[in-house]
Amino acid sequence: MPKAARPRTPGDARPLAGICPAMPAPDPLVVQGPRGGLYCPAGDFWIDPLRSVETALITHAHADHARSGSATYWCAAPGAALLRRRVDPRGRAHLNPVDFGAVHLINGVRCSWHPAGHILGSAQIRLEAEGQVWVVTGDYKRAPDPSCRPFEPVPCDVLVTEATFGLPVYRWPPADAVMDALVAWWRDAAAAGDRAALWAYSLGKTQRILACLAARTDRPGPLWVHRAAAGLCADYAAQGVTLAPFEVFDPATSQPPPGALILTPPAAEDAAWRQALRPQTASASGWMRVRRQRHQRPVDRGFVLSDHADWPALLDTVRASQARTVYVMHSPTDTLARYLREVCGLNAGPVPRLAQA
Ligand SMILES: [Zn+2]
Repeated sequence: MPKAARPRTPGDARPLAGICPAMPAPDPLVVQGPRGGLYCPAGDFWIDPLRSVETALITHAHADHARSGSATYWCAAPGAALLRRRVDPRGRAHLNPVDFGAVHLINGVRCSWHPAGHILGSAQIRLEAEGQVWVVTGDYKRAPDPSCRPFEPVPCDVLVTEATFGLPVYRWPPADAVMDALVAWWRDAAAAGDRAALWAYSLGKTQRILACLAARTDRPGPLWVHRAAAGLCADYAAQGVTLAPFEVFDPATSQPPPGALILTPPAAEDAAWRQALRPQTASASGWMRVRRQRHQRPVDRGFVLSDHADWPALLDTVRASQARTVYVMHSPTDTLARYLREVCGLNAGPVPRLAQA
């Protein structure tokens, strides 16, 4: 049976170790669907479904969380244009943008969206029904990012957390230091008369870097952004995010001069323009933290710049949530769940599965 939610305040977070005697897990308010995505039986809606459904609550507009074909979408308002561009450019679906923190009753479930700090409009989704409060984080990070609202801890009974980098080896250096190193690399390339090409995801990473560069006066040359990211940058600008000025890079026709920094999606790393311009190359990703991953990428430099939580941030987020039950998604191993069970005494594991398709 559902448990009554105890009163919670953001200020009463306590250390992880030893705070939590194991308690039986509550009946699931959210379950894992048979083909991906999360389903809320009480509200008969889905969160980040991987197929078309009637009602889809979306954490953010990345393709592995937002798919086309659903009838109705709900999302945080700052990300609505990104979502429309990605899943419904012809405007056929019903899109409900909601303000951060506002509560909407969806089939009897109180739903609200809260900043996740991952990309523009990225949100945790808080669900309240049957005496329980659940929070589904979607992707999130705790590091500073001038292109989106910072993560806000949301107290809950059950936390469904992503754990893309859920291993102790993943610890991010300070983002400011990474940007310093990135600009120094660009400066050295410019001084050598070379172009610099940085592989960065077209949605999120590119705009984060542009927003960081906008605040700096030490840019050594012009910026060019791959055309695949240009429209997304316009969506950011429309939401008031200040980006460094750039030219649109069309691989077929553009000729960025020596000294330019070209931001381009990883999918373009083997393109013919690379052979023609012969830029110095780098990648900006959390995966650059691991030497084996660095060596798998055909780049000269790797910058550890992630839009996900690292290991300490995952633990801090669990602590701040005050949740007694933590379900882990997108994790490479069972390491985080096992740590939460064995060290922290929490109920932890994968999201319960839907009993029938
Ligand atoms: Zn994402």
